[in-house]
Amino acid sequence: MTTGVDQSKAWFERAKAVVPGGVNSPVRAFNSVGGTPRFMVRGEGPYLWDADGNRYVDLVSSWGPMILGHAHPDVVSAAREAALDGLSFGTPTRGEVELAEEIIGRVEPVEQVRLVNSGTEATMSAIRLARGFTGRAKIIKFAGCYHGHVDALLAEAGSGVATLGLPTSPGVTGAQAADTIVLPYNDLDAVRKSFVDNPDAIAAIITEAAAGNMGAVAPADGFNAGLKEIAREHGALLIMDEVMTGFRVSKAGWFGLEGVAGDLYTFGKVMSGGLPAAAFGGRADVMAKLAPGGPVYQAGTLSGNPVAVAAGLATLRAADDAVYAALDVNAKRLGDLFDRSLTEAGVTHTVQYAGNLVSVFFSENPVTNYPGAQASETWRFPAFFHALLDNGVYAPPSAYEAWFVNAAMGDAEFEIIESALRVAARAAAEAVQA
Ligand code: PLP
Repeated sequence: MTTGVDQSKAWFERAKAVVPGGVNSPVRAFNSVGGTPRFMVRGEGPYLWDADGNRYVDLVSSWGPMILGHAHPDVVSAAREAALDGLSFGTPTRGEVELAEEIIGRVEPVEQVRLVNSGTEATMSAIRLARGFTGRAKIIKFAGCYHGHVDALLAEAGSGVATLGLPTSPGVTGAQAADTIVLPYNDLDAVRKSFVDNPDAIAAIITEAAAGNMGAVAPADGFNAGLKEIAREHGALLIMDEVMTGFRVSKAGWFGLEGVAGDLYTFGKVMSGGLPAAAFGGRADVMAKLAPGGPVYQAGTLSGNPVAVAAGLATLRAADDAVYAALDVNAKRLGDLFDRSLTEAGVTHTVQYAGNLVSVFFSENPVTNYPGAQASETWRFPAFFHALLDNGVYAPPSAYEAWFVNAAMGDAEFEIIESALRVAARAAAEAVQA
């Protein structure tokens, strides 16, 4: 059991005075689950510790990056060594070439890579490049998919936008949204129709290679392959957003599991080991349009930052077959525990996977798209979440997120999760709809 949250409470009050909502990314504020966000002070292996000294098994893993667990010695020492040599030069460095080579070596359709600082920047740059390459304006995205807080991609987005129940965001102008076509996920007919309705106007389809931001919702068999075929037929590009799945669900991300090649890819999270770096890349003929070789402008003061690059390289180099096997085993173990505890408590549920991303929906039917995720009994989630938290398990504070295991988890952590889940499943059973 956790033993009080006075410190987190005090820090949250202090934070709210100086940071909007007290947080630097909305989901962290616990708005949809209530209560006090925990201010974490340390992470090691599968655990996090908060400012009150409570320890948690971490099932968020910094929203994906920490596949090796926290403060992995190889990653920490690579970052430390890089820092000792200087924090940023604003010049080319050897490390960024090695990181690009590592990414290209893993994900076959990626022939060239440009490093940026966040997943948002990666998707923003990828759609600009797709527009520049094709000379077209419109982009297709899918409801419930989240591609960062890019103006054009916020419409019906997943993640925090879904958590807060927002259709889009004030501040996104009509013009910015007008070129975005939002379609239902896993619906190829809607995509076909959209190309017919918008001849020679669609630059790209952007999709999460497997959706993780409305909970884990894998693409239906043939969906990604169908997108590729339709895009090619109509002279548009397919952008596979692998910010979440990349280097997590397999060595080569979702591409490694499915083999459907996109024209462009976006990466983040795992590839920078927890420091701020991300990337976009893909076909060499498309990437050739980027400045300085081509006319599509894209730049960044801190892009390819040597410390972030060193942490990313160390993470990818440490992520061998054994790590990916452990991630898969741990995801299945977690999913099985969800299933067992909720069945025992008599709570209707569906456990879903997208590779080793796991989600539990309080829903009888499998969730295949955003309306399906919204139709689940999300009102059970706050009680479920808080029972886990009180019993030493840090879960994503939203019903619309995937759960992220790491390879550092073992028997001891699963014992904690199992007993916390017993309490949480009962709490979910007893929850009442507001
Ligand atoms: N794309 C996907 C699929 C994501 O899951 C996210 C973030 O969760 C992003 C893009 C945006 O990345 P960032 O938060 O680094 O801007």
